[in-house]
Amino acid sequence: MGTRKRLVMECGSHSLDCLGEKDAPLVERIHRLKHEAERDEGIDLEVIVYEGSSSLHRGVRPVSPANEAMPDLIGKLNSAGIPFIFAMNGGLLHPEATLPDESELRVLDFLSSSGCKTGLKNKVVITRHALHSYLRRTYPDLEIVASCIQQLSPRECGPYIDKFRDYDFVVPLNQHTTFDFLKSLQEHAGRLIVFLKLTCGMVDTRYCYSDYLSMEKIPWEIIVPQLNTIPSDRLIPSGLAPTDSGCNNPRAALITREHDLSGLIRMGVHTFKVSRAQQLLPEDYRLLIQLLREHQPEAVA
Ligand SMILES: [Zn+2]
Repeated sequence: MGTRKRLVMECGSHSLDCLGEKDAPLVERIHRLKHEAERDEGIDLEVIVYEGSSSLHRGVRPVSPANEAMPDLIGKLNSAGIPFIFAMNGGLLHPEATLPDESELRVLDFLSSSGCKTGLKNKVVITRHALHSYLRRTYPDLEIVASCIQQLSPRECGPYIDKFRDYDFVVPLNQHTTFDFLKSLQEHAGRLIVFLKLTCGMVDTRYCYSDYLSMEKIPWEIIVPQLNTIPSDRLIPSGLAPTDSGCNNPRAALITREHDLSGLIRMGVHTFKVSRAQQLLPEDYRLLIQLLREHQPEAVA
């Protein structure tokens, strides 16, 4: 019997559609994946589903169910032992939005009470740091994740090491998901969540505004002057080479950068995220499992 491994995957409701049996419902799909990972690979797999707010702090990936439909989804998943993450990773363009709106509050209330009832750790991911103290105070049982989108905003960006003081988990911007860049955060590796397939990877994050804004479907010519650019002393250099740069360049995805992915696993990163708009393909999953088996240190499991 070999050493057990550990893997946490955060996926949108449809990110697993290409894995396993066609037309199988989400809960069934996840249970089967967990069972097979344990039986065939000796891996303790946890799958956490996430969807974004459809309101004030709307996430930028436009595939979320309405907030009204969210409690039903959360209830179904939680009662099957699957935790949920509510993504409030929009709101950058609403500086006045320092509190959730009513429909978001209903989701948060449900997320919190459902987590308490089932004993699961549900999470909320935020872009606006202004939400942080409110959430901690009102929902002390929810874990709070710093969204990668924070790094696109002059108001919200900052060194990751500082974010680990306030947040339970930190999602680095795709541009920074290189081993060489993140290795200084080794002691926090268990609290890093890295995107596996995100292709947005401009070396200079300032140019990602256009990408972000197009996802928000906002006339960016009007908004860009408001956002301005990140002051140079707060810009975090990218770990990507200029040749891997470019929003929507598939070579920027971590799953295609084996050196970085292996390095991150060796340093103890075990939580990987698939964007809600993307699907985890069987070959992506196989490669991840293979690298995890080869490189995960025993201390992580
Ligand atoms: Zn970009």
